[in-house]
Amino acid sequence: MTTAEKTVLDATVDRLQGIGPKRAAALENAGIYTIGDLFYYFPRRYLDRSTVTPIAKLKEDQEVTVVGKVINMGMKRGRRNRFILVIGDGSGFLHCVWFSRLVYWQKIFQVGEWLAVSGKAASFNGWQMTHPEFDRLGKSGEGDLVHTGKIIPLYPSSEALGKAGFDSRGFRRLINGLLKKYADKIPETVPQPLLTAHGFLPLAQALRQIHYPDDFAHLQAAQVRLKFDELYFMELLVAVRRRHQQEGKGGIRFEQVGENTRKLVEQLPFALTEAQKRVTRQIRADMKSGRPMNRLLQGDVGSGKTVVALITMLIAVENGYQAALMAPTEILAEQHYLTLRSQLEALGVEVALLIGGQSRAVRAEILEKVADGRARIIVGTHALIQEHVDFHQLGLVVIDEQHRFGVMQRAQLREKGLNPDVLVMTATPIPRTLSMTVYGDLDVSVIDELPADRKPIKTSWRDETRRHKIYQFLRKQVQEGAQAYIVFPLVEESEKSDLKAAVESYERMRQGFFANCRLGLIHGRMRPDEKEAVMSAFKRNEIQILVSTTVIEVGVDVPNATVMVVEHAERFGLTQLHQLRGRVGRGSKQSYCILIAYGQLTAEARTRLDTLAHTNDGFKIAEVDLKLRGPGEFFGTRQHGLPELKLADPSVDMKLLQLARDEAFRLIEEDPNLRGQQVLGTRYYFMKNFKERFGLAWVG
Ligand code: ADP
Ligand code: MG
Repeated sequence: MTTAEKTVLDATVDRLQGIGPKRAAALENAGIYTIGDLFYYFPRRYLDRSTVTPIAKLKEDQEVTVVGKVINMGMKRGRRNRFILVIGDGSGFLHCVWFSRLVYWQKIFQVGEWLAVSGKAASFNGWQMTHPEFDRLGKSGEGDLVHTGKIIPLYPSSEALGKAGFDSRGFRRLINGLLKKYADKIPETVPQPLLTAHGFLPLAQALRQIHYPDDFAHLQAAQVRLKFDELYFMELLVAVRRRHQQEGKGGIRFEQVGENTRKLVEQLPFALTEAQKRVTRQIRADMKSGRPMNRLLQGDVGSGKTVVALITMLIAVENGYQAALMAPTEILAEQHYLTLRSQLEALGVEVALLIGGQSRAVRAEILEKVADGRARIIVGTHALIQEHVDFHQLGLVVIDEQHRFGVMQRAQLREKGLNPDVLVMTATPIPRTLSMTVYGDLDVSVIDELPADRKPIKTSWRDETRRHKIYQFLRKQVQEGAQAYIVFPLVEESEKSDLKAAVESYERMRQGFFANCRLGLIHGRMRPDEKEAVMSAFKRNEIQILVSTTVIEVGVDVPNATVMVVEHAERFGLTQLHQLRGRVGRGSKQSYCILIAYGQLTAEARTRLDTLAHTNDGFKIAEVDLKLRGPGEFFGTRQHGLPELKLADPSVDMKLLQLARDEAFRLIEEDPNLRGQQVLGTRYYFMKNFKERFGLAWVG
């Protein structure tokens, strides 16, 4: 079967009866192009007897859904004009009240139609619901059906979709009609033996049941089957990637671990932690094998990943190869460059830095050294992956703060070498059971201890009324020799108003409250050499307080800095705050992190701040973050080149995930190119949906 072959699922929506260009455009704007997209446009929830409350059974202040018929409606004038709609369900009457958009409501509702309304009911002379959410169920039929025990799907919609006739009911009719017509033409995507072995519903039935379930048992079976599909195809993609890595042109054997590595470790001002030693051994074993290494190094902020990267790079160098280290910001690349250079100078290993904004002449010279192999270790930003950067013999690629890079960028760096070994590093911990989803094609090493001399950072959050006190504390700390960061939010480096606020605060502080301290300012709009000058002045303690935007969020390492103040902490994400806090507590002195919050806080913002104040444990913080943001955002599945999950949630559906993984890996093992007769449908679906991603199959 070729990818060109079309099925009914590929027919575009504008070909459907009753859908003209305008309505088709509304669907397309919502990402629905084909009949297949409609079949995969799943209900957001379901109505049935068990989820609907009869009006006679309403209770004060409870979130409920009522299904009834519109008996009466009209405007009521008074101190505040309102629109009132009365619905009845045979057991009683409910008044739905709106105080705004009165004309609109009057236009859209009709006496005699059925509605499902959701909200909190209150009793004043009868039951009333203010500004309820509602779904229209039509003049006859559907509303009644709920009372006879049928399950009614409710679809997500929007104002634009609603205007084109695609409110929940519009979708229900359209999809239901299409399913009746075409369900038996939907090709199966999962191999039959697998369906049989696990008792999964056939795809056509599952789609039918998720849109129009016979009962809850069928609905659940449909959900399980469709979740399995999502996970199965995701894992197939992971399995294919992994296979390509393993069977690809063999990896490099790095046999030597010689003098230099030993010297380096001896010359370090500290002893490696047990965890650092362990992960170094794991990495060395990978490098010695002929299989290309593809390893994730995970360790909380401050756990000492850089030195592990350094040892790894030195092994590559000792075996005659170059190593590249890519970092997400210029500041971090610069810092790595300076650290590595000072540590490697004595060993005679040349280190080069490649970032944007370097002068033509400097750049040309560096590129030459990279190309002819004089530069052994090359540190840089995205500048490393530009087309005209040629390496002499790139054997190892290290990516720091890998979550900041897209899958393409990591691929591009890898392609600069000949099947080089790859080490990616991150501070974001991933529950072990889940790491296989996103990093299913990577081996994972964890640094699970901090260096022994560390004291837990003391963290608190305060509201703006305490700002003056906080700054007094900060000034006192600085007068006693500490260094500090004051961070202002800058959501996008291009947001001028935020930048202006940061710069103005800096000026005010410098001339006012902190007139006796040495202040510096750094932000992303400065030229690289300006940034470098500020950072190195901070390192030398010539700057005591560094006022900054989030450009210092990741990686920056100045152990003498022990106070971190974050302004407008309510605007930062949890992981981001943890990273920022990680800029202090990097030495043996007691460190402090003070988060200043402004205005009325949302419950979520409060949770973020409380979590940070209560724990320093990156693992716990990640778990809370996962709950708050959901798996898609948290893992950045798209960023990893993995399909979006609509139904499945890897943190809940773990058993199904494990099954999908086992089955997908087994299939790829037995039939790597999906040639078998039984997997034609699987191959077809895979190629159709993941063809572009297939090109990325080689990437970790
Ligand atoms: P991260 O894992 O956040 O990248 P770094 O590699 O920047 O952490 O290390 C944080 C700080 O801890 C650095 O100043 C580094 O020199 C220091 N460090 C690393 N390993 C050890 C160790 N075993 N003992 C003491 N200090 C260490
Ligand atoms: Mg780091």
